[in-house]
Amino acid sequence: LTATEQDVIDEIDEKNVDFLRLQFTDILGTVKNVSVPATQAEKAFTEGIYFDGSSIDGFVRIQESDMRLDPDPETFAVLPWRNGDSDGGAAARLICDVIDTSTGEPFSGDPRGVLKDAIARAEEMGYNVNMAPEPEFFLFEEDEEGRATTKTNDAGGYFDLAPKDLASDVRRDIIYGLESMGFDIEASHHEVAEGQHEINFTYDDALSTADNVATFRSVVRAIAAEHDLHATFMPKPIARINGSGMHTHISLFTEDGENAFHDDDDEFNLSDTAKSFLAGVLEHAPAITAIANPTVNSYKRLVPGYEAPVYVAWSDRNRSALIRKPAARVPAASRIELRSPDPSCNPYLAFAAMIHAGLEGIEEEMESDDPVRENIYEFDEAKREEYGITTLPSNLGEAVEAFENDETIKSAMGEHVAEKFVEAKSQEFGEYIVEVSDWEIDRYLEKF
Ligand code: GLN
Ligand code: MG
Ligand code: MG
Ligand code: MG
Repeated sequence: LTATEQDVIDEIDEKNVDFLRLQFTDILGTVKNVSVPATQAEKAFTEGIYFDGSSIDGFVRIQESDMRLDPDPETFAVLPWRNGDSDGGAAARLICDVIDTSTGEPFSGDPRGVLKDAIARAEEMGYNVNMAPEPEFFLFEEDEEGRATTKTNDAGGYFDLAPKDLASDVRRDIIYGLESMGFDIEASHHEVAEGQHEINFTYDDALSTADNVATFRSVVRAIAAEHDLHATFMPKPIARINGSGMHTHISLFTEDGENAFHDDDDEFNLSDTAKSFLAGVLEHAPAITAIANPTVNSYKRLVPGYEAPVYVAWSDRNRSALIRKPAARVPAASRIELRSPDPSCNPYLAFAAMIHAGLEGIEEEMESDDPVRENIYEFDEAKREEYGITTLPSNLGEAVEAFENDETIKSAMGEHVAEKFVEAKSQEFGEYIVEVSDWEIDRYLEKF
């Protein structure tokens, strides 16, 4: 056992942990668990835990279903809602890499492995990738049967404080829960819409941040449920009010800890490296959208007028652009913010797509256009054309098509994930397109 693995074994003992949840995500970003008694910890570290991959979405065909989970000891955390305080022992989770037992190699359908490949490419180029997400979510009331509604339990607006913000109790419990799992919470606030919240955690390396996003969603849901509320990361639960995004901040650091995105002499404090990275992301924006906005509902958010991006451009001022350069107080904080991702995405795949696109920009020394400082929502088509501004895909079907036509982003996902992703999303969009919505009934039933 390594020192970290031994620490985990000691902690299991000290904290009276009786069950371990070995976690990984499927291609669609859903967290999967294989539960083992804590007595299996040593075996899990030395030999891995075998499981049948055929029962997991987008994993493998039946005839090649033997997979192994290799837990990452760095990710050990006791679950705040099973911490051993009340009913018996505690439960802890470990995030795992998925290994294909027929080759002994990382399984190509494991999103965490896809992100590790992107990080490895950055490292070969001499960079460590730092990321920080800003996940937004809604808290809704449950009905008598405990099912989620779209009724909010508060009437707060952006940065409103108590007594209006009744949900602050829930948010406080969520934050305590996250902190007990090792999160470093930077800020939390009520968002623009009623019932909408945002919790920000400190930037970290890309892999830890993706692990954190996956954990974050389960913790928020579980603790909201303890308050009889339903937390949803659905991008646009209510028409005509702000949806939920997951703005993602990115910077590259060199091996000696310098921020490769910072340049004191540049007007925007962005280095050429940062600008090329940004240009690469803009270049591949339509295909990245498929991965970062992977549901039918995602495209109800990406419309003008709700602080969500629609136009492919960057800005050092305006929040209508796809990429924003946030003000940075210190060189280490120079970064870019991609505003399109929403919290329904698989964070591992979304981060991998962004990283590969940006690294390609650096490799090809792409140059970025000037930032757009006006509100692009107010541009007409002629003005957009004059500025060379294109738009993001307007629905999931278009996004999947853009993905299929983008070799860079497809190969960022690897063949297995790309194929399964297109299959799943084409089916999802196909099912949606044949539905008849309430809107259509209201509009046409009596008219024709
Ligand atoms: N909710 C907005 C979105 O969909 C973002 C609002 C904000 O953080 N300023 O991206
Ligand atoms: Mg924010
Ligand atoms: Mg926000
Ligand atoms: Mg933001």
